[in-house]
Amino acid sequence: MKIDTRKIPDEGITLVEEFSPAKLDLDTGIIKFSGPIKAKAVVAKSYSAVSVNLALEAPMVITCSRCLEEINTGFNRQLELHYAVDKLEPVINLDPDIREEIILNYQINPLCGIDCKGLCAKCGGNLNNGSCSCKSK
Ligand SMILES: [Zn+2]
Ligand SMILES: [Zn+2]
Repeated sequence: MKIDTRKIPDEGITLVEEFSPAKLDLDTGIIKFSGPIKAKAVVAKSYSAVSVNLALEAPMVITCSRCLEEINTGFNRQLELHYAVDKLEPVINLDPDIREEIILNYQINPLCGIDCKGLCAKCGGNLNNGSCSCKSK
């Protein structure tokens, strides 16, 4: 997502963009998206600075770190970014900040639920689906 500071009117501007996670180099296998990232930027400009109120939304697939089930979830984040107006480089590229925000807010050990029972250490059965036969012995 790019913002041309020369094209921001005095009253500000709202930009909406949808882009592929691959464009941000985010489809790494650890973070999996199931659709495009939607970004809405409310941009305001003062004499020397640009402030961006950015809302990010993306469908995401996470793998539970206990039971290894894949869960469809969503990434939702609102953040405020500030940039200095640089006459030599009037176009601001938001992609590095968007990428960082997503990585920083990604849960390292996600769970399908706080009460996830995980997998049986013996048979590997998913204990959320009921106790496995190991227990009845
Ligand atoms: Zn789980
Ligand atoms: Zn078992």
